[in-house]
Amino acid sequence: KVSIFWFRRDLRLHDNAGLYHALRGAHPVLPLFIFDREILDDLESPKDARVEFLHDTLAGMKESLEQEGHSLLVRYGFPKEIWPALLKEFDVAAVYTNRDYEPYAKKRDQMVRELLDNAGIPFHDFKDHVIFEAEEVQKKTGGNYTVFTPYSRTWKEVLNNRMDSFTNPDGEQQEISYYLKPYPVEAYASHFLETEPLPMPTLEDMGFEPTDIEIPPKSVSRGLIRTYDETRDIPAINGTSRLGIHFRFGTISIREKAWRAKQLNDTFLNELIWRDFYAQILDEHPHVAERSFRPKYDYVPWRNDEADFKKWCEGKTGYPIVDAGMRELNATGYMHNRVRMITASFLTKHLLIDWRWGEAYFAKKLLDFDLSSNNGGWQWAAGSGTDAAPYFRVFNPYSQQKKFDKDFKYIKKWVPEFGTDRYPEPMVEHKMARERCLEAYKSGLEKA
Ligand code: FAD
Repeated sequence: KVSIFWFRRDLRLHDNAGLYHALRGAHPVLPLFIFDREILDDLESPKDARVEFLHDTLAGMKESLEQEGHSLLVRYGFPKEIWPALLKEFDVAAVYTNRDYEPYAKKRDQMVRELLDNAGIPFHDFKDHVIFEAEEVQKKTGGNYTVFTPYSRTWKEVLNNRMDSFTNPDGEQQEISYYLKPYPVEAYASHFLETEPLPMPTLEDMGFEPTDIEIPPKSVSRGLIRTYDETRDIPAINGTSRLGIHFRFGTISIREKAWRAKQLNDTFLNELIWRDFYAQILDEHPHVAERSFRPKYDYVPWRNDEADFKKWCEGKTGYPIVDAGMRELNATGYMHNRVRMITASFLTKHLLIDWRWGEAYFAKKLLDFDLSSNNGGWQWAAGSGTDAAPYFRVFNPYSQQKKFDKDFKYIKKWVPEFGTDRYPEPMVEHKMARERCLEAYKSGLEKA
């Protein structure tokens, strides 16, 4: 008999909650990853750096397991077909995994749970992707928070309310929040199933190709985190961690990074709290994946002009800070947070294009794309979200540039023709666009 540990967005062999519990169970553990065609078939380009990153990461994990006489089972297909086949192939005692809060993932897991239930096999799932799930950070009066500041206050209280100790890598005893304590997977590594190396599909087998997009490293200097609050808003400098993709796929542990953040920089910790915040919003209010968090914003009469949208996507709006951001995104799969806010505001408010169009474009392009944070960011920019800026506050791209890129360094890097006659005139006039936006939002909200 074997237990299966099913990896999804937790691709690491250390400090992994579900994996730790699987290895402590009664049966040898066969680790599994499924390249899920329900997700992959929707990707538009065969050159997708995220699929390549997944593939590289799994190959690395497989290799390190094989050095110890274990392996990783990698399947490509539809979970609804793969799971019944696995139950025929292996004598499965139990299945372990870490929870995923996206609507599709919840549906998929429910399907697998029912299948296993019918076969009398337990399905154990664990919290690993976030520090706190929705029910752990609740209002004093009950219910989950939909406003960030009080949420983050309670989040920190809960974190500090339960202290524990652990032995750090230098062998010293250290005090740590119970919730940040690492799971010592390494201590149980001999409980993986002994097996010959297992085959793994290549990228090409799955219809994908390598890309030349660079993935930011998994580690970040303490110096950067220490000064994060001073550098994080300036897109021309490397003042943020670029860890997004690693948090997304779990190639780093959120507990470890939150622990560091707590020691080094409160502003950085706050950003990690935003991540938990949006994850619990999606979990508790799954309608946000399709509709506005505040329903009345679904009445805004978007213009949705296709030609305007194309100019925005290509970074040809004639607003240099917007164009720089879109070109950075198209070239690298990354866009600085400040500029994400500016480009998102420009699309929804200056061009009156539905935030879902922008959300979908970012989803296609961002290496760190994460449904909950992307949706949260877009709904914030559009004014339709939980914690949104009021709709009548319209970002002025020129003042944003003066404040955050005053020497045009970021702009010149991504828009080399800026300042020449090859650079387009602004596609809309700021003052007109602002008034048009206010009118549209007002009329939409009145209709609601
Ligand atoms: P850092 O500034 O170094 O922050 C560290 C980590 O904290 C990030 O990697 C991320 O995991 C988390 N974080 C930081 N800011 C936020 C935030 N506002 N909300 C949630 N988590 C945050 N973040 C994503 O991870 N995926 C997305 O798809 C995504 N889409 C966005 C779309 C829009 C319109 C906006 C305004 C923001 C979006 N963000 C998204 C949030 C934020 O811009 C990115 O997390 C950040 O820029 C990633 O760069 P970094 O890793 O250098 O972040």
